[in-house]
This record gives sequence, structure tokens and C-alpha cells, in this order.
Amino acid sequence: MRRGQLRLDGSECSPWLSGVAAAVVSLRFLNDATTAGNGPSLGESTRYDVCVVGAGLMGLSVATAIAGDLPGVSIVVVDKEAAVAAHQSSHNSGVVHSGLYYKPGSLKAELCVAGRELVYETCEANAIPYKRSGKLVIATTHSDFPALDELERRGRANGLTGMRRIGPGEIAEIEPGATGLAALHVPEAGIADYPRLAAHLANELESAGTAIVTDAAVTGISHGDSGATVDIGDERLMAKVLVNCAGLHSDMVARMAGVAPSVRIIPFRGEYYRMTEQAADLVRGLIYPVPDPRFPFLGVHFTRRIDGTVEVGPNAVLALGREHYRGTSPDWSELTSIVSHRGFRTLALRHWKSGVREMIDSRSRRLYARLARSLVPDLKADDLIAGGSGIRAQAVDDRGNLVDDFVIETAGSTMHVLNAPSPGATASIAIGRHIARQVAPMLTN
Ligand SMILES: Cc1cc2nc3c(=O)[nH]c(=O)nc-3n(C[C@H](O)[C@H](O)[C@H](O)COP(=O)(O)OP(=O)(O)OC[C@H]3O[C@@H](n4cnc5c(N)ncnc54)[C@H](O)[C@@H]3O)c2cc1C
Repeated sequence: MRRGQLRLDGSECSPWLSGVAAAVVSLRFLNDATTAGNGPSLGESTRYDVCVVGAGLMGLSVATAIAGDLPGVSIVVVDKEAAVAAHQSSHNSGVVHSGLYYKPGSLKAELCVAGRELVYETCEANAIPYKRSGKLVIATTHSDFPALDELERRGRANGLTGMRRIGPGEIAEIEPGATGLAALHVPEAGIADYPRLAAHLANELESAGTAIVTDAAVTGISHGDSGATVDIGDERLMAKVLVNCAGLHSDMVARMAGVAPSVRIIPFRGEYYRMTEQAADLVRGLIYPVPDPRFPFLGVHFTRRIDGTVEVGPNAVLALGREHYRGTSPDWSELTSIVSHRGFRTLALRHWKSGVREMIDSRSRRLYARLARSLVPDLKADDLIAGGSGIRAQAVDDRGNLVDDFVIETAGSTMHVLNAPSPGATASIAIGRHIARQVAPMLTN
């Protein structure tokens, strides 16, 4: 665990992280707290009611909901990085999903719909940038129609009252740069500044007395009747309940706690291009293809982000390590461990052709542009500038299925969020409340 001063200057952070850097100003470290004596830290009290591992949107939302539901409960949030929301929560498309895609009755459907409104409300109440910009899901070939029909059915079942099926004329009115045979227009969808939302949650938690400790990688967990013992390097803390929100590492953290998780996290990298300023006028809001129903990924789409820039992506290629954001030389030990997973091997055998195609497209700006041109025909390869990337924590089961729904498992005094990919950011506040309701009886038992 780092005990020194935190660098407060956000200038070296990626633009995605600059909002987060602002919140980190008030994070407390063991030494700082000991000398300044301001509030809880690992050094002052190693006993907490609840320890949340991971300070992404999920961990921060879980802590917020527990603090709201159970005043007086002591909470510590620990994260291995120097700032909150350093991984998926700040490396995503920034879309507030409507709930269109998800199987009615699933956790994803329920928590995305509830979470969407909670994200909008929280942003509105706290001056966090957001916009209900609406979105088009466009069928570009007749073969897309059955999947578009199914999306429409799911959207209605999930309560999307504003959703409408539209034809080519209306597509052109809403998005003059786009083309298609038919589309769903979903006004409930939008965009938000998720790093700012995470920064806000962290600030609020700290003001209310929750300890957020960064540079604190959890390296060991044991748990019994009286709760969990958590090792953070050579430091140790105790908590009655541990909630694992470690994203890309959540299955490893579960294993540390002696739990055999039902799934394994496979990291899928999503790479983005940014449109040049001149070409960005081709896109007003959110333009999506009809997704391939075999995969939980939504397909390369166009997103006008909250800062006004337009991104194209993300694709979905196997990441060469859980945090392998760029470059081609793999993290061999992680790659070996991925390939040794039976479920991954079955998945790879089943879908190797589409996997290889995605990898080839990802290596060429020209091929990426060709893919995206089916939605926005005037797009040229020269309109694209290489952008950032994010890595999805996607769970795969032993039979090689990409797990579609959110997965949250409980074992004794520990809870584990084992699959929370997209729309996880949208759903995060609702997931936090869902988990807090289960933590309450665990604390009193
Ligand atoms: C490319 C991409 C695009 C996406 N687009 C969208 C979108 O448009 N809309 C949407 O709703 N969702 C989207 N998502 C999904 C969304 O970003 C995630 O569901 C959400 O951010 C998950 O939050 P989290 O807190 O679970 O994970 P994370 O943000 O990854 O946080 C996990 C935290 O755990 C910490 N950690 C890990 N191991 C340890 C350890 N041993 N000890 C201490 N700390 C540890 C990490 O440092 C990290 O901070 C996207 C995701 C990706 C990758």
C-alpha cells in the first residue's frame, strides 16, 4: 500500500481520468491520516463492518447504498490503483443504456432500467454532465430484421414507452449522416460523464466518513463466522462483510476468499477510433447496428460523447492480459491461464472465425472504417484517428458460454460481483442498492 503523498495534478492522467483525479484530492492514506488525524483509515482502525474491494462505479455505488441504508455502519473501500475508477469505469463508451437489449426478467433488464433513471437523477442533482440524447438501432440488411423485431419485443417488455420503429425517411431526419432499412428510435438512451459520477460518489462517501484507500491491492482473504480478514500487502484489516467489486480481477479475488466461482473472467478489449472534427458532423447522437445475438457485445457503434467528440467502436478482441490496454506483446502468464480454461477453449473453437475477423479488422483503420460505413456511408478511413481502449470483464462459464446476465454470488460473509459488463455503468447505482439490501441481514446475523 502506498503511504506517500498523492500526486494531485491530473495533467498526466488520460482525459478520461481527469474528472477522477479531482476526487482523489481528498483520498486519505495511512500516513496522511495518522499525521493529519482526519477520519478513518486502515492505520487508525483495522476493524470495519464492511470492506468493499474495488473503487470502480460498482464498489463506490455499493458503499454509497450501504452508507445510505445503514447509517453508522463503518465502511472501507480499497483499490489497488492510485485513483478511483481507473479501469472499466473510466474506459467505456459513456452511454446510459435504456434497457432495450436485455432478456425481460433478467437482472440486467431490471437493474439497467432502474439504474438508468438513477444515473440521470444523480447527474441532474449534482451538476454532472449528461444528456438524454436518444439512440437509433439501425437494420442495414433484411437479415437484421428478426433480431430487430426481438429487440423491439424486449424493449416493450422492459418498459421503453418512448421507443418507436421508424423507416429510412425518419432515420435521415434524426441522423442525416446515417442510412438503413428500418430502425428503433429509443429516446430513453443517453450519455453521461461516468468518471465525474465516480468522482462524485467518492467525494460524498468521504464527506460522510467512509474510508477510501487507494494503492491498496488485496492479496489475501480468509473468512469465517466472525467475518473476513483482508490482507493488503503487509497490512491487514477485518470486516464483518466483504463485497468483492474487483471487476477484471473479481474471479481471482473470489478465489483468494476460498470461493470457487462459477465463472471465469475473460478480458475482451474494445478499441475505439475518434472522428476528426470535420467528419464528426456526420453523427448527432448514438447510432448502433443490430447486434449479433450470439454475443453480448453491441457491435461497433457511433457515440457522440458528453465532451462533443464522436467515437467509433468498440470492437471486441481477446485482450492479451486483464489490463493489456495496448501493444501486441502478451502478458504470457495471463494468456496461458486464459487458454488453459476449458470454457475459453470451447468458446474459441466455437467462434474462432469471428474472433480472427475482429482481430484483422482491428489492425486496419481502412477495414474498421468499412465496417462502420454500413451505418454512416460517407465515413472515410481518413476521418478516423486512433482513440483509447477499454477492457471488458466478461464472464465465461465452464461450457464456453459468454454469460449474459449479471452474476452476484454470496459465500458466508462475502459477496462477489462476478459478471458486471455493459450496461454495468448504467446499472451501477441500482446494483449498489440491490447488494446493500442483501448486506443488511448479513451484518445483523
Ligand atoms: C469498452 C467498454 C465499453 C463499455 N461501455 C459501457 C457503456 O457505454 N455503458 C455502460 O453502462 N457500461 C459500459 N461498459 C461497462 C462498464 O464500464 C462496467 O460495467 C463498469 O464500469 C464496471 O464497474 P466495476 O466497478 O465493476 O469495474 P471497474 O471499474 O473495472 O473497477 C474494478 C476495480 O477493482 C480494482 N481491483 C481489482 N483487483 C483488486 C485487488 N486485488 N485489490 C484492490 N482493488 C482491486 C481495480 O483497480 C478497479 O478499480 C463498458 C465497458 C467497457 C470495457
